[in-house]
Amino acid sequence: MATKPYIIALEEHYFDPEVKRHITGLDMTTAPRIVERLDDVGELRLREMDEAGIDLQVLSHANPGLQKLDAESAVALARGANDRLHERVRAHPDRFAAFAAIPTPDPKAAADELERTVTKLGFKGALVNGLTNGLFLDDKRFWPIFERAQALDVPLYMHPSTPHPAVIEVYYKDYVAQYPSLLRAAWGFTVETATQGVRLVLSGVFDAYPGLKIILGHLGEGLPFYLWRINMGLARDGKGGKGFRDTFCEHFFITTSGFFSDPALLCCMMEMGIDRILFSVDYPFVDNPPGTKWTETLPLCAEDKEKLLNGNAKRLLKIA
Ligand code: MN
Repeated sequence: MATKPYIIALEEHYFDPEVKRHITGLDMTTAPRIVERLDDVGELRLREMDEAGIDLQVLSHANPGLQKLDAESAVALARGANDRLHERVRAHPDRFAAFAAIPTPDPKAAADELERTVTKLGFKGALVNGLTNGLFLDDKRFWPIFERAQALDVPLYMHPSTPHPAVIEVYYKDYVAQYPSLLRAAWGFTVETATQGVRLVLSGVFDAYPGLKIILGHLGEGLPFYLWRINMGLARDGKGGKGFRDTFCEHFFITTSGFFSDPALLCCMMEMGIDRILFSVDYPFVDNPPGTKWTETLPLCAEDKEKLLNGNAKRLLKIA
């Protein structure tokens, strides 16, 4: 019998008690089973990790984090939230690592908090949820965050959030009552986060910061499937230089969060290579066992499976 592989899961969420009090409306998760698990960074979480064979969770605040607050509140909450997260990691340093919650409504403060959490608390990067008060993150106002991420050599995880109200109004409104997930995992999250990924490439931020690394969950939010076509379309606009597909494959990493499909994974491997794909569950919005069970039957050689389950994460996040 083969020994169990070491498994690192990258996009695993929790609630900070203070930040949670500021989450309202469509962004609030109310399902009791999920809320109970978001609130727990202890016994219940560790038991469910053990049952599924997950060795290390990289913790991040659940959507929408600090992204939909006014600048003053976001800055005021960030330090305490990250300090509390640090305590939770320190209680189980062999089981947890962390992505920071950064106050993007104040970009300079967000860059400073990223630096503080990485250099003082040992965090592995930051996770940002969707738009910041209606703005995509490629807006030049946010570039100090990318500059700092490059200087610190840490990745930024672009996580979905509830779509912009104008998008909900035009695209989804008439189906939301019957299918609330349409705004979220079923489609709305994907569209918004894929758009964020495309816009980052178009913005030129990777020319300005050639060491910048971005992580997308959910097998790249559909973008790996579309790389050829996006690249072809944008080439028609003839700006020359490195194409979309090359830029994407050079700067983006993707995770398997909430997306356990062999055909989808194979597409991602063919476009990006296994070195850029990392295991993730999206706990507790998704249960652990379907994720780890899926990896047991993947049609991969042992070396590639090891990269997916831990090797790529160790390299990207500098986990010893
Ligand atoms: Mn998630």
